[in-house]
Amino acid sequence: MVTTHNLGFPRIGKQRELKFALEKYWSNAISQEELLHIAATLRQQHWNNQSQLDLAPVGDFSFYDQVLDMSFLLGNVPKRAENLSDNTLDNYFRVARGRAAANESDCTCIQAGEMTKWFDTNYHYIVPEFSHDTHFALQAQHLLAQITEAQTQGVKAKPVVIGPVTYLWLGKSKDDTNKLDLLESLVKVYVQLFDELANLGVEWVQIDEPILVTELTPDWQAAFKQTYATLAHSPVKLLLASYFGTLQDNLSLACNLPVDGLHIDAINAKEEVQTVINTLPKDKILSLGIINGRNIWKTDLSATLLWLTPIFQQLGDRLWLAPSCSLLHVPVDLNSEQALDTDIKSWLAFAVQKLAELNILAQALNQGQASVTKEIAKNIDAINARKHSPLVHNAEVKARVTQVHDTLGNRNTDYESRAKLQSKKFNLPLYPTTTIGSFPQTLEIRQARRDYKSGKLSEEKYTRAMQAEIQHCVQVQEELGLDVLVHGEPERNDMVEYFGQQLNGYTFSQFGWVQSYGSRCVKPPIIFGDVSRSNPMTVNWTTYAQSLTDKPMKGMLTGPVTMLNWSFVRDDQPRSATCLQLSFAIRDEVLDLEKANINIIQIDEAALREGLPLRKSQWQAYLDWAIECYRISANGVNDETQIHTHMCYSEFNDIIAAIAQMDADVITIETSRSDMELLDVFDEFDYPNEIGPGVYDIHSPNIPTVDAMVELMQKAAQRIPAKRLWVNPDCGLKTRHWNEVQPALTNMILASKQLRAQ
Ligand code: GLN
Ligand code: ZN
Repeated sequence: MVTTHNLGFPRIGKQRELKFALEKYWSNAISQEELLHIAATLRQQHWNNQSQLDLAPVGDFSFYDQVLDMSFLLGNVPKRAENLSDNTLDNYFRVARGRAAANESDCTCIQAGEMTKWFDTNYHYIVPEFSHDTHFALQAQHLLAQITEAQTQGVKAKPVVIGPVTYLWLGKSKDDTNKLDLLESLVKVYVQLFDELANLGVEWVQIDEPILVTELTPDWQAAFKQTYATLAHSPVKLLLASYFGTLQDNLSLACNLPVDGLHIDAINAKEEVQTVINTLPKDKILSLGIINGRNIWKTDLSATLLWLTPIFQQLGDRLWLAPSCSLLHVPVDLNSEQALDTDIKSWLAFAVQKLAELNILAQALNQGQASVTKEIAKNIDAINARKHSPLVHNAEVKARVTQVHDTLGNRNTDYESRAKLQSKKFNLPLYPTTTIGSFPQTLEIRQARRDYKSGKLSEEKYTRAMQAEIQHCVQVQEELGLDVLVHGEPERNDMVEYFGQQLNGYTFSQFGWVQSYGSRCVKPPIIFGDVSRSNPMTVNWTTYAQSLTDKPMKGMLTGPVTMLNWSFVRDDQPRSATCLQLSFAIRDEVLDLEKANINIIQIDEAALREGLPLRKSQWQAYLDWAIECYRISANGVNDETQIHTHMCYSEFNDIIAAIAQMDADVITIETSRSDMELLDVFDEFDYPNEIGPGVYDIHSPNIPTVDAMVELMQKAAQRIPAKRLWVNPDCGLKTRHWNEVQPALTNMILASKQLRAQ
């Protein structure tokens, strides 16, 4: 018999119940007791959703983040959060977000833990902190209580924890402590934990070590051996779980650690499955993650069965089946969707549907395919319908992208010659000022967009409302004295959604929320088919804005790589192929803007870096196609048209050569938070074009001072010739209030004037 299990279930709730409960608790609208009650109800629902599985995860629920849960379980709470109150949940929220409740007195507010991306997902975790006086001490009461809670409900509980090696690797040393020096004392706590779990009757524990899919240095590989040699004596059985990629050099290590079972991602590491089977000692369980936990497409059940059947014959009871990774990264339940096209809906599977697929596969193996004939037939129909659907395939688009040739992404001339023409055309002063695109999204704008969408506001009235806002933005920018203006993006709810809604090949769910961090969720658009643009998407708004001013108006677009990386992408062709289609759609828009006399155009690639593969050895292959797609979208313009791009991160140094290849005339980047540290890269790399290193942090409500901004720009001018520098905030201003934006930009312009005078 094959055993089924799940690595983790989304905890946010299918109507984002947890999000709303948390936010109510933080604003003192509900009590802690009520919050705990909602959480327990959600857990119960989620275990119900998983009731057909042989083993269900426990400990995957979290009030904020599973890594932070681990820090509390291990007693590794930052010193600044200890003893703030007797209430551990409130202390936990303080580490997560700086404060527990809205009306909290300042003395219990602390600096929130740093947040960073969980591997190559869009989920963000709170980085564990280490120092020389880090002590671990088991605080397992919450996990133990959840296990009892699950057992009382008849759930066959499989606790889920992050393994000690990954936990250390994810954290950050706050002094010069070598993290690996902490390993021994850390592992002791896991030993205690496993004893406690055994006391509750737990048989299997899932221990996640996803760093096994990254490039590990010998000391980290040795850490695995040391750790698992100690844990080998545990009274529970350990299922070591890796996911998100291939094991490669770590394959033999992962197979030979003294644990009772190994889970691998048979979607992303399908080509390794046979080697793993051959390498894994014959007394161990092999769990194959055969349902994609990172996308929303139905599994091709008959193809999977065909592939699995000989594996099952080989492994028998040793074979377990699961999704490839925790289902945290997909929305909860497709049945909530009422507005999706019925064909498209029939091709999709969210968490609940993915578990149903898992059950069908297990049943087919355990009881014979005849026991699931109907289900398989239905699946085959859906898979075939999708394969051949005219919604998916557009011959014209496919033909067009085959016409890619080497020069399509090239400008006509080099930057030096373009810069001369552009400087004559725009006649900008030294240290020209601009912004990144959006201006504050007031309640009125949001309301107008909502009313238009729901039909309450006519198209004409909506257009007038947006134009009024654009007019206001232009007027403010003229009064402030900015050099290159923007229209302010009032019509955009989101920089990807706005374009996706106007492109063929995109669709949107109503409830397809995925947790990004804490109570924050995103609803990624779905790219289901060939992408093309039917009509201009921004030309009207931009030309209207240009008609109001003599200053140059900067067109504002989202680039193809960001459109891709922030969507659920079709899996029937390589991501690079989808990106190429996107790049043509954006190219059309760029050329239409140019035709409409918009001569400065910014193409945002906020998420370019996020697409980097987990292994550095694969970076270049990604960068090759990603940069080429950007170039195709941007570089078809005349020499006199100035192309800007924008990126919202400061980790730049390791991809600077690729960034330079984009050949944007101007690049604006986030730098202020890192005190222009980023600019160090320019000591070694001679960046050839113009650059606007963000001079202030738009994520903070603080008003930046003139002096601070002058100082930052002076640092920049030490590395980059002044004539190639721009002055701008580090990102769009949509999350700020007008009463913050106006004084901040006033100071920014004063700073630029001072710099010019010098
Ligand atoms: N143009 C966008 C804006 O200003 C850019 C947003 C971003 O970089 N995340 O909002
Ligand atoms: Zn940005």
